[in-house]
Amino acid sequence: MSKTCWKCNQTIGFGKKNFSIKDFNSKKLECPSGFTKNDNICGECYPRVAIHSEPTHVDAFDYILKLIDSQKKKDDTKYEFLTRASELRKEKLKFEKETGVTCFLCQKKIGMLGGWDVAWVVDHSHSGAPEGFGLKSRVCLDCGNKMKDEKKKHEKQNRQEEKNNLFNELGTIIKKTPSAQYYGGHNAYLAGGTFGDAQNGELILTEKYLVFTKNAMRESKKWKIVIPLDKVIVGDWKIDEKTRRKSMAGGGVGFGFFGGAGTIHDTGKSHDIVVPYVDENGMDQAPRFGVSSITGNAIREWAKLIYDTLVKIQKEKPSEPTETKTSEEDPLKVLKLRLVKGEITKEEFNELKELLD
Ligand SMILES: [Zn+2]
Ligand SMILES: [Zn+2]
Repeated sequence: MSKTCWKCNQTIGFGKKNFSIKDFNSKKLECPSGFTKNDNICGECYPRVAIHSEPTHVDAFDYILKLIDSQKKKDDTKYEFLTRASELRKEKLKFEKETGVTCFLCQKKIGMLGGWDVAWVVDHSHSGAPEGFGLKSRVCLDCGNKMKDEKKKHEKQNRQEEKNNLFNELGTIIKKTPSAQYYGGHNAYLAGGTFGDAQNGELILTEKYLVFTKNAMRESKKWKIVIPLDKVIVGDWKIDEKTRRKSMAGGGVGFGFFGGAGTIHDTGKSHDIVVPYVDENGMDQAPRFGVSSITGNAIREWAKLIYDTLVKIQKEKPSEPTETKTSEEDPLKVLKLRLVKGEITKEEFNELKELLD
């Protein structure tokens, strides 16, 4: 079925472009008066009609300007289009000034391109975008900057709070380093993808705890290993370096007092300290930490300090059986320990457990 153009009456259809009321509406253009939903308009008449509509939306301005650009080559109408184009640009500027978006927070007019959008707001506000802030909302530069300051203040407060909490929970800090490594050994925390990988972080020794906090840009990516010093298995205490033993004995540092299992090896650069302890689930963990220093003296210093603190805690403990002894005496704990160490299988564990019950 062929159609005729509302404006010039030529036959349209059969591959020729034609436009209906929908095309006006979707571009936010005003329909010419008398044009109904049954009418069609040809591809030549449409831009001419469109550019004479009175845009009431910035999208319509942009659309008409685009139409004009596409019509530039047609000599007969070039002048008309160009004149209308310059008119429209002026109108658009005026329109933007008058009706451009307002700041979501202070309602100040900020023009079409001013201010900050939702991505920016989420990124720079500690509480995310305010409720109701949508893809088309914006905040002015002033409010944006306030948001940024708020976030900084909030983060500073959080850090201070965290410090206070740490102090309250963990006791007085004895030593602290921002350049520690965790090499694995705690079942709940991976050291990295492959063997030898380390996680970098902060190591804090307090009078009651040893705490490793993994470095991360985002607060949510951080994690902590908190070792209560009274849960450290002192007999297994050791400083370890992965390869051969070297002249540590002759190095003048008396590590013999670290107990029977205490060993110190030297790889020249990386010195690790292994801190075996029983975690809050009664599981044996043996996380391995390093502290960067050129000579490796830092880790020795740490080892000494941790050891001294451990000794102090052991001395202060009441003379009843220690935590470690209790776990040795509790048959179920012993079983768990043997399971963890791989001395018995899960099946054997269950069997023995049943016997105990
Ligand atoms: Zn026509
Ligand atoms: Zn504002």
